[in-house]
Amino acid sequence: MKPPKFAYHAPGSVEEAIQLLQSYAGNARILAGGQSLVPLLNFRLLAPQALVDLRKVPGLADIRYSQGKVCIGAMTRQRAAETSPVVAQHLPIMIEALGWVGHLPTRSRGTIGGSIAHADPSAELPMVLLALDGEVCAQGSSGTRVIAADDLFDSVFTTKLAPGEILSEVRMPAMQARAGFAVEEYARRKGDFAIVAVASIIEGDSKRCTRARLVAAGVGARPVRLRAAEQLLEKGGVGAEAIEAAARDAAEAVEPTSDPVASADFRRHLTAVLAKRALQRAVHRIEAYPHG
Ligand code: FAD
Repeated sequence: MKPPKFAYHAPGSVEEAIQLLQSYAGNARILAGGQSLVPLLNFRLLAPQALVDLRKVPGLADIRYSQGKVCIGAMTRQRAAETSPVVAQHLPIMIEALGWVGHLPTRSRGTIGGSIAHADPSAELPMVLLALDGEVCAQGSSGTRVIAADDLFDSVFTTKLAPGEILSEVRMPAMQARAGFAVEEYARRKGDFAIVAVASIIEGDSKRCTRARLVAAGVGARPVRLRAAEQLLEKGGVGAEAIEAAARDAAEAVEPTSDPVASADFRRHLTAVLAKRALQRAVHRIEAYPHG
């Protein structure tokens, strides 16, 4: 299949990109790595009047550590984040998650901001952004604003970004050095989108849990924070029984739908299995610290 006709623009600044987007009044799409957008165009599932390619806009592909946060420019290629020493030191869970995203060629073109803005319900990066209590910086004709991950994801392929707004930066608090973490996933083949994925972050020690984050992807219209399971762990610790109870609670908390890929029951079952594995591995990492 071939994409429908569209005008192509490669602006040299964010301001120029915003003006271009505004001039098309919602009929233009931002082009980042193209790894999701181009297939949608080729299958004629989208027919924007114009593409506004961000690749020539300077300052959108930096990775920096600033005031306790890791700030990643939206146009940072996934592979650049995956091989970044700053991300490895402060956000090791993102490195683990990126290993599940597509294939090396798609990660070499796909961007961090594109994956977040695309908001595929089974994508790993939105799930990890939520687990890290991250936020995004959005720039548009009415200025710049910050949107917390909790407020960003609306429904399938839909975020709270306004039409014509550019996601310019993704910001996440640096993880505690000895935090345990894990990303567990079930997909038909390595590199396929997850049927279900679970991300866990545990702070504390191998008995007590001072802070838990447990998020599932592929179980609804957006990534799901499993708050009740988190509270179980923060109250009851991270022993074998507490993890079993939290995994059961996670499965009860999600409301997946059935589709040709997997039934809702199977997704619910996977949520329990993957939550248990992710929590066990996160606790094991705390026990094995500092060698993780
Ligand atoms: P694009 O495709 O360029 O854009 C995606 C959407 O986001 C478009 O609507 C675009 O307008 C919008 N957008 C992009 N950047 C911005 C911005 N800065 N501000 C506002 N809107 C923006 N993804 C996974 O998560 N897990 C997988 O397992 C996975 N497997 C894949 C396998 C294959 C074979 C392929 C081709 C892709 C796969 N992907 C997977 C998708 C891939 O990770 C994409 O890179 C990602 O979903 C979108 O990033 P992108 O930079 O390519 O964005």
